[in-house]
Amino acid sequence: MKDRVRFLIDTLNKWAYEYYVLDNPSIEDREYDKLYDELRAIEEQTGEVQFDSPTKRVGGEPVKGFERHAHVHRLYSLDKAVTSEQLTAFFNRIKKVVQNPEYTVEYKFDGLTMCLTYDKGKFVRATTRGNGVEGEDVTAQCLTIKSFPLAIGYEGLLEVQGEAVIRLSVLKDYNETAKEQLKNARNAAAGAIRNLDPKVTAERKPEILFYNVNYMGEGGLATQQEHSEFLRRNGFKVFPYLKLCQSEEQVASAIEEIEVGRKSLDVLTDGAVIKLNDARVREDIGYTDKFPRWAIAYKFEAEEAETVVKEVRWQVGRTGKLTPLAEVEPVDLGGVTVKKATLNNLGDIARKGVKVNSRVLIRRSNEVIPEILGCVEHTDESIDVQKPLKCPFCGGEIVETGANLFCVNRECKPRIVAALTHFASKGAMDIEGFSEATATQLYEVLGVNKPSKLYSLTTNDVAKLEGFKDKKISNLLAALNKSREVALDRFIFAVGIDGVGKVASKALAEHFGSIENLSRATAEELVALDDIGDITAQTITGWFADEENLKELAALQENITVTNNKKIDKSGIFGGQSVVLTGTLSDFTRSEAQKIIEENGGVCQSSVTSKTTLVIAGESAGGKLAKAQKIGVKIIDEQQFKQMLK
Ligand SMILES: [Zn+2]
Repeated sequence: MKDRVRFLIDTLNKWAYEYYVLDNPSIEDREYDKLYDELRAIEEQTGEVQFDSPTKRVGGEPVKGFERHAHVHRLYSLDKAVTSEQLTAFFNRIKKVVQNPEYTVEYKFDGLTMCLTYDKGKFVRATTRGNGVEGEDVTAQCLTIKSFPLAIGYEGLLEVQGEAVIRLSVLKDYNETAKEQLKNARNAAAGAIRNLDPKVTAERKPEILFYNVNYMGEGGLATQQEHSEFLRRNGFKVFPYLKLCQSEEQVASAIEEIEVGRKSLDVLTDGAVIKLNDARVREDIGYTDKFPRWAIAYKFEAEEAETVVKEVRWQVGRTGKLTPLAEVEPVDLGGVTVKKATLNNLGDIARKGVKVNSRVLIRRSNEVIPEILGCVEHTDESIDVQKPLKCPFCGGEIVETGANLFCVNRECKPRIVAALTHFASKGAMDIEGFSEATATQLYEVLGVNKPSKLYSLTTNDVAKLEGFKDKKISNLLAALNKSREVALDRFIFAVGIDGVGKVASKALAEHFGSIENLSRATAEELVALDDIGDITAQTITGWFADEENLKELAALQENITVTNNKKIDKSGIFGGQSVVLTGTLSDFTRSEAQKIIEENGGVCQSSVTSKTTLVIAGESAGGKLAKAQKIGVKIIDEQQFKQMLK
């Protein structure tokens, strides 16, 4: 029986490999089904299922949410070049380090980047790229895809990288019978993988094209070409195009080849990837914050089209900024019908000469909403876009700062809704199941006008919202509870300082280490960071100078423990403690003391809250000390602090 099972598994896997990886089946479907049924019957009888059995290729029950999982090695994204000058700059950087470099050129597929982990020859898990450091565990979803092996010859720890895509022909077939049409192959692929129900993944039939070995425990691969060969040898699906180029001219002609070739491809592509072939010198060339310096993605020009502006509406964002959004005559752009296009601000409208009823050029790049590039021609009916004199939502006062207009009313509804939605969003507090509609209801029904108020919501409160029943209520409250501990960079992003995105938040978190340090930073210190410009630096210092913001910040810290992004040693002497430093210490600066506490497992807070477990009071400590005494938090002085460190 054992031999028969092994025979069935090996035979079925070989056939599946021929069918799904090589696109070259050697048998009829019904022959496959016959052996598959036999294997299933034996498995049911014995209750034993081998790890590489093809019967594991069903995703099983829907999952409740995606666990996050750290990659063994960071998955970098690639820097982009859109002009030949940028490409030349890339070559020049390489040539400073490597003589006569050799390059590989490959297709760049437009889907969802995946990372598959193997250990001891067995498939362990599949994750999305996520932020490069950690991604979402999509193993159940991925198991329904058959273009990768469950068992491989390589025995060490291994992480391979690929792009999950849906073929254009498969998407077309799917749309012919689907209730809900999927418009774009990239979103369809991402939606298929990031779907809680593996059955949906299976229905949409994504596949994965592998192109990189991200981590290899034992042995090594000397070149990009070897990466490709290794993947193929171990049974992964690899797209059959990898051009080896000895000169920049050869790279240029390979790019041209891809630009022409991609038009007849059944898979969505948006560029070419150029890598230094020799993997051994890559470390010498190194990495920027975000990208490897030894590889680049050459992106083909985004799609453009002409259309007519019908109307311009103003939207109010979380900072009160008014953003114009143009409604345009529907136009097809790369297979997607476009009805809306963005303009940046009032200044942008003037600079581009955009008027209502004028013909404009729009471009869709990676953004969801295309952008208006400029005006093509005016007509007799062209009229200027009206600059709003008061807020279109609350009727409140409008202030003009540079090229931007702001509604200054903090109680303006769209501002509040946008702020709450942003606070809960992915990359911020990541409160699952919290949508813009949730934010709107929370504000309208319960008067939640600040993120800090979310943390006092009760079951009874949430039950007042439309569509919220038992399960949904407990899900929302559980998600809120889960967000009570968050990494510093995500917290910085969540509070929503204008111009401070995810990248800047990360840089700020890494540099300053705490909200308290960040709040004291001067504009000069901020500008010194790579990701912070003049205007953003001013915005940050201005944000921390605002009384209302500080009040809200303190209210948030009452409810949320902000952890340093660095790994915390919870067994240290301050393990599990929330510590507030106040007054002046004679032997340490504030940030030295803070560093010591954090390195020993403690979390530093900027103000005394109900969560504070310890206050270290130096000379002339004031309000914080008084508050600590009032609520009965343990207080020690500098001598005792030093004693602890011994
Ligand atoms: Zn307003």
